[in-house]
Amino acid sequence: MPDVAAIADAMRGHRTLVVTGAGISTTAGVPDYRGTPDRRSVEYEDFVLHEIWYRYLWWRNEMSWTLLRQVAPTAGHRALARLEEAGPVIGIATQNVDGLHTLAGSRQVAELHGTFDAVVCLHCGARFTRSRMSEMIRDLNPGLDFPAPPLAELEIIAAKDEESAQLNPIEVPPCPHCDGMLKPDVVLFGEPLPKAPVRAASALAGACDVVLTVGTSLDVSTGMWVVMQAMESGARLVVVNRGPSQADRLADLVVDGGADDVLPGLADVLLGDAP
Ligand SMILES: [Zn+2]
Repeated sequence: MPDVAAIADAMRGHRTLVVTGAGISTTAGVPDYRGTPDRRSVEYEDFVLHEIWYRYLWWRNEMSWTLLRQVAPTAGHRALARLEEAGPVIGIATQNVDGLHTLAGSRQVAELHGTFDAVVCLHCGARFTRSRMSEMIRDLNPGLDFPAPPLAELEIIAAKDEESAQLNPIEVPPCPHCDGMLKPDVVLFGEPLPKAPVRAASALAGACDVVLTVGTSLDVSTGMWVVMQAMESGARLVVVNRGPSQADRLADLVVDGGADDVLPGLADVLLGDAP
């Protein structure tokens, strides 16, 4: 049984910044994947410089969109929204691009790796919704089908997918304002983090007394950066994760558990709803 009472004790009367990773969304059906050196994904440079990867990433992105738009927030996402509404949580810095924190009702969400729910023009900077992009793609490709792929096949592996990329039939619509190249508003490998969420996360890190990491091993350096910022301004660290994380050795409290097992109970205890 995860030690919910100990986390509640650490948070009570303090301002908590929550740092989340893929582990909070896996029970919603969002896969946890990332490129590794031997499974290299398509990187920012491939995307902007090579038309086959530009078109292929959009093709796969459209299929992922059909899947992701059906995904609902988990009990963990909802518990964090309750904790923000009631006060103990001042905000969330997330490595996830699935938009589920916002969908669950959280307001202060710094999406450090961008969001799947928006599209940005690389030329004029125009930003619009992913659903509008989907309409544009389908208008331009009337005969094409975009089936939701099996979860295990969502990831693009450059070496494995090159032949499919060559054969890929999609036409990608240009920016409706300037005809420029469009990019999903998510951070691709090799691309810098977006400035606004970095600033927001930094401000939250400076304002919190406790930083709580949930569902991330912190192997991705973004989450660790936020944790270090918070700790440098005096915050205590609580880690909730299945399995070890990079921050365990720095933490005041480490709880081995999943977001759905821990956060709803934590919200009940802190908000006085526990039996
Ligand atoms: Zn444009």
